[in-house]
Order: sequence, then C-alpha cells, then structure tokens
Amino acid sequence: MRAGPPAFCVLRKMGIAGQERLWYNGDSQSQKLQGGIPVNIGPFPGGKTKAFTLSYDDGVLQDVRFVELLNRYGLKGTFNLNSELMQQQFQWTHESGMVVKRLPPEAVLHLYDGHEVASHTLTHPYLDTAGEGEILWQMGQDKANLEQLFGREIAGFAAPFDFYSPLMADCARRCGFAYARISEVSYSYLPPHDPYYWTAGIFHLEADLEDFVEGFLETDACPAVCQIVGHTYDLDAENLWDKMEDLFRRVSQAPDVAFLTHIDIVRCLQAAGWMH
Ligand SMILES: [Zn+2]
Repeated sequence: MRAGPPAFCVLRKMGIAGQERLWYNGDSQSQKLQGGIPVNIGPFPGGKTKAFTLSYDDGVLQDVRFVELLNRYGLKGTFNLNSELMQQQFQWTHESGMVVKRLPPEAVLHLYDGHEVASHTLTHPYLDTAGEGEILWQMGQDKANLEQLFGREIAGFAAPFDFYSPLMADCARRCGFAYARISEVSYSYLPPHDPYYWTAGIFHLEADLEDFVEGFLETDACPAVCQIVGHTYDLDAENLWDKMEDLFRRVSQAPDVAFLTHIDIVRCLQAAGWMH
C-alpha cells in the first residue's frame, strides 16, 4: 500500500514563495488540477478536509444550555442517552455538592433536534463482567427505546464508563449500530478505520483542551477530526461555560472545518473508503 495521505486527500495547497501551488502525489494529477485553482477534495461536505464534533454523555439538565450554545455557533453534537435512567429521572450528587439530574423523556423530545442521539446503554452499567446476553440487552433495548421515543434511527453507541472489549464491539455491530465511541482518549485528529473502536479525541476537562483545538485548526492532516467528549454538568461544576463558548466561537469561524455529528462523519468516511 502506498504511503502518504489517502487518495481523497492527495491534493494539497502549499505556500511557495508567497504563492499557492498545487501539490499532488497521486496517480492522475491532470484530472485534479482545474486551471490552477486549488480544489478541496476532503471527505467532508464541501470537500472540507476537517470535521469538528462533540460527544456528550448521559442526557443531563445542563444539556439544555449546551445545545443552545451549539446552535448559536452552528456546531453539531452527539448526545448519548440511557433510556431507562431517563425514565427514572435518576439523579446523583457530584463531589462539588451539585445534584446531577437526568432530563425526563418529555424534556428531550425536541431538545436534540438537528443533533444526533445515540445509545449509552439502558442503565449505564460497568460491563466488564457482563455476558453476551446482558450486553445485547443493554445495547439493543436502549436502541429500541430511543428509536421509539425520538422516532428516528439510533445509529451510534457510546460505551459507559471506561470499559470496552471485543465482545462489546461485536454486540454493537450485531445490534445494528454503525459505530461505537469508546472512552479511551487518543489525543489524535486521525479518525479510526474501524468504526467500532472510535477513541475519544480529548476529554473536555483536560488542561490542554485549547491547545488541542488550536492544533486542529492549524493541522494540514487529512482527514482530521477534532472530537471533544464530556458531560455537560462538568461545565457547571468547573465553571467552564465561558471557556467553552470562547472555544466554540473560535472554531465556528474556521472556513475549512465541517461541523458534523458522529454518524455524519462515519457516513462521509465510509463513502471515502477511509472507514469500513
Ligand atoms: Zn456516561
């Protein structure tokens, strides 16, 4: 296999002595050069080479404010919900003393319009000792419940806690999910080839979050995905709303970035042959 960027990314712009020059390392330079005008051929809408996405877990009260923020800046998020805990309106006390509350079904019906809803299991169990039957139930029944509630396909799965296994990947596939986002953090902009092992880009409480995003805006890697994961209650607990809004404003102004949900990214990367 040829080294270097994938076929859909081979055309790049290089600054040469103040001028832009097209550089192509593939096999058919002529078909890609259009009168010397730089052509974007990234895998994302508009031929963009970069995508920005957010993955937020648990469906909590602070999602309401967070979704407003995403909508203000034209960003897209994927929200990973536990249908049974939603029904129970489960709540717990954070170490800061704040009570973390799940949103009830009637509150989420239209909250996530324009964004993606994904499964996060029925009850958020630690699945390290769970057998195949329990994993399939936790995934499959949650998918079915969410599909009934929202009236749309639930194509994504996000693993609860930090445990993941080949058995879980296999169950996610058999339940009909198109991808699984796991909790292991990669600190990488490189999206996976295997959609059932989608590591988290960065957790939003990491001290170098801003550097990670800045690096994404500057990279010429292709394809490049900046994925931030977290829980919106952290923004209350750590007083991070202003910091996140500054970051969203900055990213939203980047002309070469597409703002997509996880399933959008999976479909684009599958169409480009990057993801299987
Ligand atoms: Zn969770």
